[in-house]
Amino acid sequence: MTEEILDPLVISEQQFDRASLYINHLQSGLIDFLKQPKRVHVIHFPIEMDDCSVRTFRCYRVIHNRVFGPGKGGIRYHPDVTEEEVTSLAKLMTWKCALVNIPFGGAKGGVCCDTKKLSNSELRRITRRFTSDLIDVFGPHTDVPAPDMYTNEQTMAWIYDTYDVLNPGKNNRPVVTGKPLDLGGSHGRVESTGRGCLYVTERFLSKELIPALSEVAGARVAIQGFGNVGRVAAQEFCRQGAKIVALSDSSGCIFSESGLNLDEVTQFKQSHGCLVGMPNTMTLTNEELVELDCDILIPAAVSNQIHTGNAHKIKAKLIVEAANNPTTPGADQILRDRGIYLIPDIIANAGGVTVSYYEWVQNYANEQWDLETVNDKLKKKMYGSVDVVFKRWQAFAVGEEKCVDKNSGELMACPDFRTVALVTAIERVANATLMRGIWP
Ligand code: NAD
Repeated sequence: MTEEILDPLVISEQQFDRASLYINHLQSGLIDFLKQPKRVHVIHFPIEMDDCSVRTFRCYRVIHNRVFGPGKGGIRYHPDVTEEEVTSLAKLMTWKCALVNIPFGGAKGGVCCDTKKLSNSELRRITRRFTSDLIDVFGPHTDVPAPDMYTNEQTMAWIYDTYDVLNPGKNNRPVVTGKPLDLGGSHGRVESTGRGCLYVTERFLSKELIPALSEVAGARVAIQGFGNVGRVAAQEFCRQGAKIVALSDSSGCIFSESGLNLDEVTQFKQSHGCLVGMPNTMTLTNEELVELDCDILIPAAVSNQIHTGNAHKIKAKLIVEAANNPTTPGADQILRDRGIYLIPDIIANAGGVTVSYYEWVQNYANEQWDLETVNDKLKKKMYGSVDVVFKRWQAFAVGEEKCVDKNSGELMACPDFRTVALVTAIERVANATLMRGIWP
């Protein structure tokens, strides 16, 4: 058997190429242009550590496309961050913002570091230096960062402060989202990605595509990751009557057939720093979590967790991609063949960037909306985005929309939800590129 390619750039190209097969009317040159990032910044800087030694850090900021507005995308602090990963995530942001129809382009950033081995003051120095080196890149109308893996409200507050000090005399709050509430953050931003996952799942299940699974209440749910996204998703699904049977973090997975008590899990994680060891639970590996017998599987941690090696063993009826890029194209194919539905990352986790947009709007208006207003708007946006993709998928499924293979002349198979979502997003970006006259 040939080894599966896990390079994030190759994977995003494969997903894009598959979607572009369903876009007949666009020139191939324009399609090629849309694949490329607009700008790639690679930065190195030295930081004095707490023990007075000096270490050099490698960082990235990639802006993929700005046809709809400023670049928008999180900043990830992780030892395995690469230029390829950041570029593929910046592309994903372009399609995500276009799909949910918010006026942002796609960007992403990363710093190669292990936050578990850095002190708070070292993290602050790294963040300030990263921001000052990108002072001409970041801006409320050019590139607006946000949190991602191992970054949080505190990181965003340092970015805001550094930018504000270097750009005095302006309302600089819209330069970064995911800020603390007292510095212009939005109610509901921290919870928005996990909550958006719930809204998207609710709407998808209401279409009654999956026998015996038409609502969240009563569903058995397994969630990989217990950070910003996974923890909130667990709480939100639980509140709607789902049973959370498994949760994991980088230490491993905890499982309980009768359902986990989230208050106890949160307390245990706070006091022990990990989930494994929680009393009255069975310990499993993260690999075993993916293959668990459950109704809904929510990968909410790292990429490439569902691959050709385990896709044929998955027992969940529905996969909701809270994480970015958790499923490889090879696994997509296996899941399609097995009739397992998947809500792709570009809709499933778009709640985060949607509320980031609401934060940006509030910052310009010097307002702070209440939580109910934010959640109502988020729900409407998530439901509407599912409806757009579902309607188009149905049109393909019943043959109202058809696509012919350019080589064989044969009718192409009905695309999966990822492909339909990408087709919709790519068409929007392509049309805007033509309308603006960017493409000659
Ligand atoms: P986080 O840093 O808050 O949490 C990450 C979680 O993943 C932690 O529980 C960690 O222990 C776990 N983890 C790390 N390595 C793991 C591994 N190898 N196996 C299993 N678990 C592992 O990050 P987050 O903000 O919750 O982001 C999670 C995912 O959601 C990422 O893919 C991110 O890109 C995506 N995402 C986040 C947001 C957001 O608003 N934070 C928005 C959209 C997408």
